[in-house]
Amino acid sequence: MKYVIIGNGIAAAGAVEGIRSRDRESPIAIIDGEQRGSYSRPLITYYLAGKRKAEQMHYRPPAFFHQQGVTVIPDRAVKIDNQTRQVILQSGLVVGYDRLLLATGASPIIPEIPGIRQNGCVKTLYTWQDAEQLDLLVTPGQRAVVMGSGLIGIKAAEALYQRGMQVTIIEKQTQILPRLLSRTSAELVKEHLQDKGIEIITGQEVTRINGDNGVELADGRRLTAQLVIVAIGTRPNLSLAADCGLAVNQGVLVDSHLRTSDANIFAAGDVIETNDILTGYPAVMALLPLAHREGFLAGQNMAGAACSYPGGLLINSVHVLGMNIIGAGSPQIPGQTWLWQQGNHYLELVTESGRLVRYIALNMPQVTGPLTSLIEKQMEIQDSLWQEFISQPGLNRLPPMYWEAIKEVADNDSYRCRAI
Ligand SMILES: Cc1cc2nc3c(=O)[nH]c(=O)nc-3n(C[C@H](O)[C@H](O)[C@H](O)COP(=O)(O)OP(=O)(O)OC[C@H]3O[C@@H](n4cnc5c(N)ncnc54)[C@H](O)[C@@H]3O)c2cc1C
Repeated sequence: MKYVIIGNGIAAAGAVEGIRSRDRESPIAIIDGEQRGSYSRPLITYYLAGKRKAEQMHYRPPAFFHQQGVTVIPDRAVKIDNQTRQVILQSGLVVGYDRLLLATGASPIIPEIPGIRQNGCVKTLYTWQDAEQLDLLVTPGQRAVVMGSGLIGIKAAEALYQRGMQVTIIEKQTQILPRLLSRTSAELVKEHLQDKGIEIITGQEVTRINGDNGVELADGRRLTAQLVIVAIGTRPNLSLAADCGLAVNQGVLVDSHLRTSDANIFAAGDVIETNDILTGYPAVMALLPLAHREGFLAGQNMAGAACSYPGGLLINSVHVLGMNIIGAGSPQIPGQTWLWQQGNHYLELVTESGRLVRYIALNMPQVTGPLTSLIEKQMEIQDSLWQEFISQPGLNRLPPMYWEAIKEVADNDSYRCRAI
C-alpha cells in the first residue's frame, strides 16, 4: 500500500499517526507545499510578537517523520489524476498512490477592494513566512490597521501591539469576535482591548487602500496606516479536489469515514466540510484539535479501519492581552440565557430545554472543561440547578448528574473504530 498526503499541517501529522497505528511498514509520502515542515499555525502570532523562537514552532519535529518512515517532499501538488492514481507536482515529479489524503487546509480571503493588491503594505498573517515578512515591516510607533476581528485578527492585533505599533481594528459586524461572542461579552472584550490602547471600530468596512496614506472607510473616514493586515476569514483550498471531480461544497465533502466521493481519496482538516454535532448542520470548522483528530481517523481508515467521525463541536479559546476568552456551542440555537459577572470574570450560558447549547467564559477557564462536556453530552438539567450553578459558578456547583456522567468508561466512545 502506498500512502500520499498532500499538505504538511496538523491534519497530516494526525494522519501519519493514524496510518502507523495500523500499518508500520508501507511507504508514506507527504507533499509539503509550504516547505516549512510541520509547525503549529496558531503560534505564528507569538513568533511575530517575539514570544516564540523558530525552534519552538514545531508541531512534529523533523525527527518524527524520519522515525515514522515518512518521505517529506518539499513541493506543491498541482494536479490529481484519480484515474491513474497519481499526484503531479509543480516540479514535474509524479507521485503514485493507493490511498491519498487531502490535507491542504485553507487560505485567507482577500476582498476585492481598490488598492488591496497594489500596495506592499497590505499583508496577511496566516503562515510562518507571513510572520517572518511582517517581522521586517513592524516599526514601533507606526500605525497598523487590522481588517477583521475574528480570532486571527485579534491575535494579529495583539502581536503588533506588543511590538510597539499603534493598532486599529476595523470590524464590519457590529461587534468583535462575532463567531465566538455574544453582544454583551463582545463589549467587555472590546473595553478590555481599548483600555490597553487598541482602537476598535465596529460596523465599518475598509473600502479603499491608499498605500502609505492608509485606508478609507465606508463612512468616508480616512485612517493613516503604514501596515494593513487582512484577516476577514479563510476559505478551504478546494481547487485540487474540485479539478479532479471530487464532490465539494463549502469544503471537500466527506462521508462519516472521511472518505471523499472517490473511494481512494480521503480528506481531513480545514479543507473539509464536516458536521456540527450540536446543530446537525454542515460546517467548515477550521479548528486545530479537529484537524488532528480528523487526520488521525482518516489515516486509520486509509489503512483499512472503519473509524467513524460524527463531526465536531465549535469551540474556541483565545488569550489576548491578559484576558482568557473561551466559547463553545452554537450561536444559532435560541434558548434561555444565564449570566454571571464579577469584575472581569464573566460567564454566559444558553440552555434549550435544560440542555446547554452554548457558553462564553471570560477569565473563567476552570469551568470550561465541564461545560464543554455538558454540551457534548447534551444532558438535560433542571432550571433550578442551572440557577444554582450560575449564582456562583464553580466546579463545586456543577449538577450532581455531571459528576455521575463523567464516571462513564470509554465504551461510549463515539470515535471507536471497528476492527479491520
Ligand atoms: C494565527 C492563527 C491562529 C489560530 N489559532 C487557533 C486556535 O487558537 N485554536 C484552533 O483550534 N485553531 C486555530 N487556528 C486554526 C488552525 O491553525 C487550523 O485549524 C489548522 O492549522 C488546520 O490544520 P490543517 O492541517 O487542516 O491545515 P494547515 O495546518 O493549514 O495545513 C495545510 C497545509 O497544506 C499546504 N497545501 C495547500 N495546498 C497544497 C498543495 N497543492 N500542495 C502541497 N501543499 C499544499 C498548505 O500550504 C499548508 O501548509 C489558527 C490559525 C491561525 C492562522
